[in-house]
Amino acid sequence: MAHALDELIADGVAGRRVLVRSDLNVPLDGVTVTDDGRVRASLPVIEKLAHAGARVIVMAHLGRPKGQVDPKYSIAPAGQRLAELADVPVRIATDVVGQDARDKAAALADGEVLVLENVRFDPRETSKDDAERGALADELAALTGENGAYVGDAFGAVHRKHASVYDIAHRLPAYQGDLVRRELEVLTKVVQDPERPFVVVMGGSKVSDKLAVIDNLIGRADALLIGGGMVFTFLAAQGHRVGGSLLEEDQLETVKGYLERAADAGTEIVLPVDVVYAERFAADAPHETRPVEDIVGGQIGASGLGLDIGPASAALFADRIKAARTVFWNGPMGVFEMDAFAAGTRAVAEAIVASEAMSVIGGGDSASAVRNLGFTDEQFGHISTGGGASLEFIEGKELPGVVALGA
Ligand code: ADP
Ligand code: MG
Repeated sequence: MAHALDELIADGVAGRRVLVRSDLNVPLDGVTVTDDGRVRASLPVIEKLAHAGARVIVMAHLGRPKGQVDPKYSIAPAGQRLAELADVPVRIATDVVGQDARDKAAALADGEVLVLENVRFDPRETSKDDAERGALADELAALTGENGAYVGDAFGAVHRKHASVYDIAHRLPAYQGDLVRRELEVLTKVVQDPERPFVVVMGGSKVSDKLAVIDNLIGRADALLIGGGMVFTFLAAQGHRVGGSLLEEDQLETVKGYLERAADAGTEIVLPVDVVYAERFAADAPHETRPVEDIVGGQIGASGLGLDIGPASAALFADRIKAARTVFWNGPMGVFEMDAFAAGTRAVAEAIVASEAMSVIGGGDSASAVRNLGFTDEQFGHISTGGGASLEFIEGKELPGVVALGA
């Protein structure tokens, strides 16, 4: 069993430097944080340590800078948001383990926080080579000086075997942060012992990534409601023409297999009955609602794209959600970033809010979709900070950042 953060606090942290791996991977519009959910979720552990007198050093990544310093991916906007929200002093380093990070780490006073620059600016963070990652982990650990400790609290990164997530845990006394603990508790309940009916809503654009999750949910979920970009591979598997919509042709056979297996396993796969079909991928594109039997045709013709589920589908999905006792939702139903294609996602969110079910929302875009559509976190049972991590957990995969802390 992983050691809990509270054990570290009970041992006494005053004066000690504690490295915390947090998830500050927020969406940005230039230097503006458009959804600070992950910063807010990271705050309790950072403040808990600082209040106990620790000198807290936060490691986090932002986006995929590919191992190079790229100002576009600076952690600074996320760090500044943390500084605004925190009730303890927060400083930001201009490098990961360079002179500035070392100087500022050395200068920390009890109860102060230092945020290191984007750990992925260092190519060793994500290296496949154990020795390279280990060398970075050694340098990160050295920032703590004598008697340091490590707290893993970045649920959104626990599926990565990265230096700041995995290797570091073997170099310092390692503890599990409260956020990771809570995420694992909630997801374990959903996977192992859901109250039934257990309804899963899947959407989004990463079709092939998410098909593996569907595979694992067949036989576990009572119903799988499918929307978003992935639905067109299902509709095509049923013989419908989908025009220029997202389609993974090489997955058609796999999807046909799912449809057959689901029928035998008692998991109902519920597909849309209508689709909002647009002339092109643009907010102001002409669009119309078409029945799935006949998506291609009408005014839009054969080159159009399905960008949202239609209103009849939204009502069908909402009924299923209202009857559920557990709901897991990953992936928006349409291109919610554009008003014209946000109605399906909004309808699913409204149905979840109205239901009594225990609800879990996983996925970075799904979480920012509900917030940007005007819902609050409190309206949902649990908004997971992890997209890929929550899906890999549901797939039953081992998560390196969890294993490293002692599962
Ligand atoms: P999450 O981050 O919640 O796991 P994904 O990253 O898989 O979700 O997908 C989110 C993206 O999917 C959104 O940007 C949304 O615009 C896009 N999307 C949803 N439906 C469609 C569709 N029908 N066609 C193209 N893109 C879609
Ligand atoms: Mg996403």
